[in-house]
Amino acid sequence: MANVLREQGVKKGDRVCIYLPMIPELAVAVLACARIGAIHSVVFAGFSASAVSARINDSECKMVITSDGGFRGNKSVDLKGIVDEALEKCPCVETVLVAKRTNTGVTMKEGRDIWLQPLLDAAIGNNVAEIMDAEDPLFILYTSGSTGKPKGMLHTTAGYMVYTAYTFKNVFNYEENDVGWITGHSYILYGPLLNGATTVIFEGVPSYPDFSRFWEVIEKHKVNQFYTAPTAIRALAKESIDYVQKFPLSSLKVIGSVGEPINEEAWHWYNDHVGGKRCPLVDTWWQTETGGIMISPIPFVTPTKPTYASLPLPGIQPVLMDELRNEIEGNQVTGSLCIKFPWPSMARTIWGDHQRYKETYFTAFPGKYFTGDGALRDEVGYYRITGRVDDVIIVSGHNLGTAPIEDSINEHPAVAESAIVGFPHDIKGNALYGFVILKETGESRDKENLSKEINQLISDQVGPIAKLDKIQFVSGLPKTRSGKIMRRILRKIAEGDFSNFGDITTLLNPEIVEEIKNGKI
Ligand code: AMP
Repeated sequence: MANVLREQGVKKGDRVCIYLPMIPELAVAVLACARIGAIHSVVFAGFSASAVSARINDSECKMVITSDGGFRGNKSVDLKGIVDEALEKCPCVETVLVAKRTNTGVTMKEGRDIWLQPLLDAAIGNNVAEIMDAEDPLFILYTSGSTGKPKGMLHTTAGYMVYTAYTFKNVFNYEENDVGWITGHSYILYGPLLNGATTVIFEGVPSYPDFSRFWEVIEKHKVNQFYTAPTAIRALAKESIDYVQKFPLSSLKVIGSVGEPINEEAWHWYNDHVGGKRCPLVDTWWQTETGGIMISPIPFVTPTKPTYASLPLPGIQPVLMDELRNEIEGNQVTGSLCIKFPWPSMARTIWGDHQRYKETYFTAFPGKYFTGDGALRDEVGYYRITGRVDDVIIVSGHNLGTAPIEDSINEHPAVAESAIVGFPHDIKGNALYGFVILKETGESRDKENLSKEINQLISDQVGPIAKLDKIQFVSGLPKTRSGKIMRRILRKIAEGDFSNFGDITTLLNPEIVEEIKNGKI
């Protein structure tokens, strides 16, 4: 694959967008880029054409690697069609390599699109790896920002690999010949492979063909480490316990959770029924930006505590900060989670916008890296992550910035303005609640139809994952004098908690709160 890329003119430093389902070609493409020093930018295969084109253009990718399609449960997704649509707006892309997965008919554009397999068949077997400096870029991974366009977090070669290798080995208690089954760049690819582990990638959804799918795969491949997100755990815990109890799962040694705070109920279900109260459950806190796990129990060393990510890994220095930017000392306290000393795998910049990198992460608390999360530290110093303090909502483990979703709602010709917040959802962790102001008030528009059209817009522009569960039409939004929407009030309304809205005196229009509250759906 590395030779294929070189033959197609990809060189060290070039950007390659990878838009593939969870198939081996995904791993192969990532590693081939790394081998020749090309910077990979993996885009989640659930994103829409406009999300894909924005990411391709931001980092000026010259190649896209995709497939004819992908499977999700009993559905197939037309990935090539999405890429074709995206590329109408991407003049920088010269070549598209297409892997075969669904064998569905696709259009191949002359001079741009090439089937991957014949190129692989024709490629020679030897490849000399590019020599890389420790700080040469390894990859870009886009993550949602609280405002504006997604941020292309840039990770570099040595620090990232050292840290993912080290954390994989220690947090998952990896021993030679173990088989790990885990999610993400760091713990599906780089971490395990740098340690020589066998990694099992899972395509599809945990509910298809039935709710035993995860447990069946663990049993079949004698998986030792299993890593998933609370949203998947909650969905499976809702189903009959027989689906999991059918399998002894005796190969498992360590089970992990990542992506959002794990609630107590889900923690116990996972710990008791999957881990058999025998495997340590590592609740691992980290971010795209941190590159690797920062706060987590170390199996057989750190006693676990439900809902607590527990202690920082060696070398990591978390601190809690108060609103006056002071470090909060002592235990049994809550604050904004910052890291006060650098670590090997921290993202080095935002692609193309170093100023934004500084502003986003290093200005709120000068001299410290601000995570965007709030946390509490208990009486023994264990950390529990309480959630985002900025405008990012995590739905089914996906980070969604409020801004791009609001932008697409606002494109509806009838909409004047909108604000979305998250509210607790049994399965997804959070679901989206939209407050929408229409341009013409008092008119008798078909609200149901409007809601459908709004969701369709979101689906087209951001992706189906960002659709709103509830839409309330309002005549105004609570705003501060500086025009910032006070989301904390909307959040409380969406949650149905009308007890105490806190200080609303800084609002320009405090009367609106009552109106929105009365119209809650
Ligand atoms: P991402 O960049 O997509 O990896 O998302 C990072 C965000 O996910 C963090 O800032 C947290 O808000 C959340 N997160 C990740 N892992 C955990 C965890 N173990 N507990 C609580 N929140 C988590």
